[in-house]
Formats: sequence, C-alpha cells, structure tokens
Amino acid sequence: MNNFIERHLAAQYRTLLFSKEFSEDAIFGFECNDGWANLIEATFRLTQQHAELKALDVKVTQAKEKLGQLRIYHSGSDEDIGSVFEIAQLASGCICELCGKPGEVVSLEGWLVARCGKHTGRGHLDPIEAHIADEKYITSYTQALDMILAFFATGAVRWVQDERTAFAGRRPLEMLATEEGCQTIFTFLNRLEHGVGV
Ligand SMILES: [Zn+2]
Repeated sequence: MNNFIERHLAAQYRTLLFSKEFSEDAIFGFECNDGWANLIEATFRLTQQHAELKALDVKVTQAKEKLGQLRIYHSGSDEDIGSVFEIAQLASGCICELCGKPGEVVSLEGWLVARCGKHTGRGHLDPIEAHIADEKYITSYTQALDMILAFFATGAVRWVQDERTAFAGRRPLEMLATEEGCQTIFTFLNRLEHGVGV
C-alpha cells in the first residue's frame, strides 16, 4: 500500500492500529494493494464507532490479502465488530484490489486475486487509479452496514451472501462494492424499518 494511504489511515485510526507507546509517525504496514483502501477505511470507521459506544479496546493486529480477500486480524472485538470484519472480507472479493472498481476473485498465474475486468489481463499492473478516501463511498458503506447489523444482528454475515430477489438476484456483498449498491441496500432496509411497502 502506498505511503500516503498508510499515513492517512494511521492518522485517522491511531487507537485501532497502535498501542499508546507508538510514535506519531508509526507505519502500520498494510499487506494489500490500494484498491481496498476505501473498504478498509469504512470498516475502521464502523469499528471505531462501535468500539467507542461499547467501550471496547479493539486492536487491529494485521491486515493482509489472502486468497483474493482482505483479512483483518484483530483483538478485543465483540460479535458486531466481528461481523464488520467478516463482511469486509467477503466484500473485498468483489472489489479490484488494484483500482477499487467492482471485480471478482480470479485465478491469475496460479494465484487467487480480486480484480476488475481491466486488471485481469496477464501482467496488468497499470498505475493505480484508485479513488482514495472516497468519502461518499465510505459514508454509504458505513450507513448500509450499520443498517444491515441493526436489522439482522448475528444473521448479517449470512444475509449478505445470498442472492436477493429484492435486488434482482444480486448478492448484497457484491452491492457493497459500489456507492450506488450501498445506497440501494440502505434505502431498502430503511423502508422496511418504517413499514413502507417495497
Ligand atoms: Zn481494477
């Protein structure tokens, strides 16, 4: 991950990433590419909000790419935060790790990686075009996931994985890859919550 994103995340989420004794300019060392930066930021923001509400001392110990998905290892979480990290792992498989656009897990030269159509070609490592700190996406993802957790609680991880007729057969975890998809999920659950016919 490039240095700018490292510094941005380290500055914004110090309490999640470092113990108190770490210096101001400590670097965490994310072991993945920049395309997942917004997903990571949205996940950290949710985690920090939940941790503050429940007075939990959550620490992220490692964030890495494995088999085409983002794995975030952590301690001190509760079930909700565990679900937030688990859903981030599932959603990452639908987001190109290089550019952040919608993608899927594919096998490239024997490795499982998350790539969009453009980055599926052999040796395709164009300059990164990831839109870093995309506030609209981060906010939409955070709101959608908050709503999913409020609605389904321990069933949230299950809910995002199945094809939903309400979304024309799409799986919520794929929709979490885009701002529009996040908003569609939020609107749908918000209507259900308020008893409006959908
Ligand atoms: Zn891509």
